[in-house]
Amino acid sequence: MRILITGGAGFLGSHLCDRLIEQGHEIICLDNFFTGRKANIQHLVGNPHFELVRHDVIDPFKFEVDRIYNLACPASPPHYQYNPIKTMKTSVLGAINCLGLAKRVKARVFQASTSEVYGDPNVHPQPEAYWGHVNPIGLRSCYDEGKRAAETLFFDYHRENGVDIRVIRIFNTYGPRMLPDDGRVVSNFIVQALQGNDLTVYGEGSQTRSFCYVDDLVDGFMRFMEQEKIVGPMNLGNPGEFTMLQLAELVLKKVGGKSRITHLPLPSDDPKQRQPDISLAKETLGWEPKVPLESGIEKTIAYFKGTLAK
Ligand code: NAD
Ligand code: UDP
Repeated sequence: MRILITGGAGFLGSHLCDRLIEQGHEIICLDNFFTGRKANIQHLVGNPHFELVRHDVIDPFKFEVDRIYNLACPASPPHYQYNPIKTMKTSVLGAINCLGLAKRVKARVFQASTSEVYGDPNVHPQPEAYWGHVNPIGLRSCYDEGKRAAETLFFDYHRENGVDIRVIRIFNTYGPRMLPDDGRVVSNFIVQALQGNDLTVYGEGSQTRSFCYVDDLVDGFMRFMEQEKIVGPMNLGNPGEFTMLQLAELVLKKVGGKSRITHLPLPSDDPKQRQPDISLAKETLGWEPKVPLESGIEKTIAYFKGTLAK
């Protein structure tokens, strides 16, 4: 198949490019390089099945494709808050442009939605049927509400125009190719520990997240895209739930060195807890994550050791 991946030079997108190329597909990787890097896909440049296009998803695009994975959007809070209006445009106009193209060329289109649609949840763990608890006017809203609006567009194009959609809600995912200055917690802690700096735990560190290793997630993406039973939304993530203090202690144990834990103020609207209910993914895809946090953290530490040394 010919497959368009928007945000294909980013953390998740570049791993998806690798896996789909391995399966023999032709990939068009579209990215504006806001948080993506050529280094993530450099090894694919020159491959006759791989094409790289510098383009912004807010501007229309046309390709003859069978599948579209829409991943274009900064995912880390400092990056999506850097230009919040642009983040909202990326989510909403990016979705409209992908859906318009899917409608025209009859492609199946996949949306990388997020656990942020649940906001600061008061249902725990979060099943897909939960409508969420989101602040519409806060610092995180450009991302949360942008992704919620994108889901609305996906389902309206599906109902109104019969567009073949797949919508997944990704819970915190980590692994090689995150940017060292990405700002998300796993890369922050690992880079801080490797550089001998203190680990910055925001607030008391009692807030929880559930961390999925990238290989597990990408496997879930591909299974979900190619099944015919449901269009979503479907949660994908690792149900193992940890406090940020536990994560900091794990990273300190694995990296060693002299770093300690320091506390910084908790950002506004920071969700207190988050854990995916993945019953639907288990039943529909026979999918569940295989990589435990400890070994995923080891692989990610090895990656950052390599990149920071360069
Ligand atoms: P990332 O920042 O590494 O990747 C995003 C990619 O999109 C980058 O390559 C960036 O340059 C590109 N991009 C951003 N704005 C664009 C625009 N206007 N036009 C074209 N390209 C643009 O982040 P990621 O972790 O790989 O996330 C990929 C997708 O998955 C995002 O949509 C994100 O919201 C979603 N997601 C990720 C996680 C996670 O934990 N990694 C969790 C929930 C949802
Ligand atoms: N966090 C932290 N230290 C950091 C970066 C993040 O304690 O250096 C916390 C943050 O407050 C949040 C959690 O880690 O509670 C996950 O943050 P991240 O930005 O990775 O993802 P999100 O909040 O979007 O789930």
